[in-house]
Amino acid sequence: MKQKETLLNTMGINITRASAEDIGDEHVGTSLETPLREDAFEMDDELKIELIEKHFREIMHIMGLDLTDDSLKGTPHRVAKMYVKEVFSGLNPANKPVAKLFENKYKYNEMLVEKNITFFSHCEHHFVPIHGKAHVAYISNGSVIGLSKINRIVQYFSQRPQVQERLTMQIGNELVEALGTDDVAVIMDADHMCVSSRGVKDTTSSTLTSFYSGKFEKDEQTRNEFLKYISLER
Ligand SMILES: [Zn+2]
Repeated sequence: MKQKETLLNTMGINITRASAEDIGDEHVGTSLETPLREDAFEMDDELKIELIEKHFREIMHIMGLDLTDDSLKGTPHRVAKMYVKEVFSGLNPANKPVAKLFENKYKYNEMLVEKNITFFSHCEHHFVPIHGKAHVAYISNGSVIGLSKINRIVQYFSQRPQVQERLTMQIGNELVEALGTDDVAVIMDADHMCVSSRGVKDTTSSTLTSFYSGKFEKDEQTRNEFLKYISLER
């Protein structure tokens, strides 16, 4: 036990064993902000890739895999690069998409809905994929953003270890800020591989989360209009 704790400490892991076990399969999120260390970005990407590669090789080695095998030897580097440059690149604020606003010249004051935005994220409790669709709506207060920017904002926050509730709120809050309007709604409908591929192995359930602010929160008619649009067949 002592030895295990020392090992965890040398790896910079200071979560206590009891709390890790308490969380177990319960998907509990702790805060709206992704829990990041203050020194999160003191290392550059290249150094992070090098260190993750080293530790991932160690994990594979501990599992008994032969790292000299042609098929396996490139895996530690591949995983490290994928973590830093792709699937967890949204941890780094430097990668946050810049949302350029345009004037709403055509005076479109109705609700804009972008539905079925594909997203891929990772469950922060198991580090396995969460994937699904996001549906986003806003009512312009004079400014609009390019549609692809909405996808990019969804992607950015998805590319972190996440819990779906926090992901939904982070996207909603970012849209409120980027668009300068309170009238924003986000619904996320996702499959969690930690539920489908292991544990209870439920492949049919999906998880829905929502974020409503401004008119979407206060006005039932506005909210229902949004819900109607996203339920429409194409
Ligand atoms: Zn999970």
